[in-house]
Amino acid sequence: NVSVVLFTSDLRLHDHPPLRAALRAADEIVPLFVRDPAVDRAGFAAPNRLAFLADCLADLDEGLRQRGGRLVVRTGDTAGEVLAVVRRTDAAEVHMAAGHSAYARAREERLRRALEADGRRLRVHDAVATVVPAGEVTPSGSDHFAVFTPYHRRWAARSVRTPLAAPRTVRVPDTVGSEPLPTRAEVASVSEGLAAGGERAARRRLTNWLSRYAASYEEGHDDLAADATSRLSPYLHFGALSASEVVHRARAKGGAGAEAFVRQLCWRDFHQQVLSARPEAATEDYRPRHDRWRRGAGAERDLRAWREGRTGYPVVDAAMRQLAHEGWMHNRGRLLTASFLTKTLYLDWREGARHFLALLVDGDVANNQLNWQWVAGTGTDTRPNRVLNPLIQAKRYDHDGAYVRRWVPELAGLGAPEVHEPWRLSGEERAARGYPDPIVSLADGLDRFRRARGGD
Ligand code: FAD
Repeated sequence: NVSVVLFTSDLRLHDHPPLRAALRAADEIVPLFVRDPAVDRAGFAAPNRLAFLADCLADLDEGLRQRGGRLVVRTGDTAGEVLAVVRRTDAAEVHMAAGHSAYARAREERLRRALEADGRRLRVHDAVATVVPAGEVTPSGSDHFAVFTPYHRRWAARSVRTPLAAPRTVRVPDTVGSEPLPTRAEVASVSEGLAAGGERAARRRLTNWLSRYAASYEEGHDDLAADATSRLSPYLHFGALSASEVVHRARAKGGAGAEAFVRQLCWRDFHQQVLSARPEAATEDYRPRHDRWRRGAGAERDLRAWREGRTGYPVVDAAMRQLAHEGWMHNRGRLLTASFLTKTLYLDWREGARHFLALLVDGDVANNQLNWQWVAGTGTDTRPNRVLNPLIQAKRYDHDGAYVRRWVPELAGLGAPEVHEPWRLSGEERAARGYPDPIVSLADGLDRFRRARGGD
């Protein structure tokens, strides 16, 4: 007998409950990935993510081949393609991971109906994409936690399952064919410095990072130039790594650094449970603030300067250029560029979120939109009106200016603090470097924001 395993954003062989269950239930399985145009229409089709996805699929296929199987890829409507494969192989069951977004839940429901109408069963497995399934940890009287700290307390008290080993052998019926796998080379406009995707790259990175950097995570994670965070977010986004396994292995390593790192992984689940309970928070203010974000030609010009990394604030520009070059940005950079856009320029967080989603390889609706809302003060931050001053941020988190020099070549050769305040250079020197003057004064920005939020 045959079972189908439908892979979505869980592109791995280790710690994969649907795969484990399917292999237990059947002699042969069809590991299936459907390229559904509806996912692309919903905004997924950013080049960086498509390229990383191609790497992940190639690696999954390779991993399956080493075990005697292969990956089957189809293009089309998910329910239609799964049904065709199920009929072709006469599979009784389809296994997949539970999704949390409105889209994922609607897809699951449609698939369930299509399979049941055909006399087959859909089995949905929890805690594949997140450590704790959304909706499982809730305060009494509400469907989700709106504040992180109490959520974290409850989240951290739960036990995490022991990671499941990858299967040794996989048998795939030869009656079912695959389309050619997509390749990274087919994708245009990919960021030059984009990391390589895939489960093997993810596992190497995890092992290496835990042994070399985890111990100093607490002190080092905010240091922009040190670049000492795990950079696991794209692998977690595509499920090339299981978040539960990452937590399990970090805890096994132990220490304050590993625990601080695990706390960051809790943020990922936290945002998922907010979005799952409030799907509209993807586009609407979670806590409406009556902001009248700037619009018009001036706003457009400032937005463009921000996107291009030409605001005249070196640390902001460095981070924006890192995003363009790598399809990834350091968390401290995300915080300070988002604060600059929403609070100093007073531009709508949705504009910033859209630009991030167009480039971020780890870009996802829950973590991107809800982090943006957190920074904009329309989300779950309990101090919604705090403003990050880019100059103070630069001095604190890029102390000697190495991060700015790495990403803003116009300022090469300058030491700190000048590198963070190029407006102090003589007019001649500034002209020679070709770096823009600040597009706004921080004092004016702060004034405007305080006046706008005054009534809050
Ligand atoms: P590490 O510091 O090594 O942390 C480990 C893991 O914890 C990360 O891989 C990530 O999965 C999780 N994590 C850490 N911080 C957060 C956080 N604040 N929220 C949720 N998860 C977190 N993260 C995304 O995965 N996708 C996004 O689209 C995204 N958009 C963001 C937008 C803004 C405006 C901000 C401020 C943050 C955003 N983040 C997003 C969160 C965070 O910046 C990234 O997860 C982190 O920078 C990834 O780098 P890392 O893997 O080295 O993180």
